[in-house]
Amino acid sequence: MPSYVITEKCDGCKGQDKTACQYICPNDLMALDRDAMKAWNQEPDQCWECYNCVKICPQQAIEVRGYADFCPLGSNTVPMRGTDSIMWTIKFRNGILKRFKFPIRTTAEGSIDPYAGKPEPDYSQIKGTGLFTNDARSE
Ligand code: SF4
Ligand code: SF4
Repeated sequence: MPSYVITEKCDGCKGQDKTACQYICPNDLMALDRDAMKAWNQEPDQCWECYNCVKICPQQAIEVRGYADFCPLGSNTVPMRGTDSIMWTIKFRNGILKRFKFPIRTTAEGSIDPYAGKPEPDYSQIKGTGLFTNDARSE
């Protein structure tokens, strides 16, 4: 089931140029009603339930009905995002709560240098089929 916004919780990301859910949706589905300052999924049938908007929303205002393979209908699945992990809370329809913590990174945010230890690119090999990171770049 596609994502939906719990309007009581949504604050429209306080009217910034682009809301967090608009920024993250790979399918550009989230829209903001600037009068009401509430976001909404403008094309639910195009939602592939990736949970990106659910995870990024700072107000925990977006839900996707969980898949039946990890929680039955009538439950809800709410993430709390930390810097290195996400704490998921599953609330079952009979009221039982389960929580699990899922690591999302092993290094500090912003600390990765993707080119560390890599050779300088050799632009004379630009038409080669190899990658600049391996010895086959001159092939
Ligand atoms: S990210 Fe959350 S709080 Fe921000 S506009 Fe979207 S639903 Fe509302
Ligand atoms: S679940 Fe994924 S595809 Fe659906 S609205 Fe959210 S970010 Fe977009």
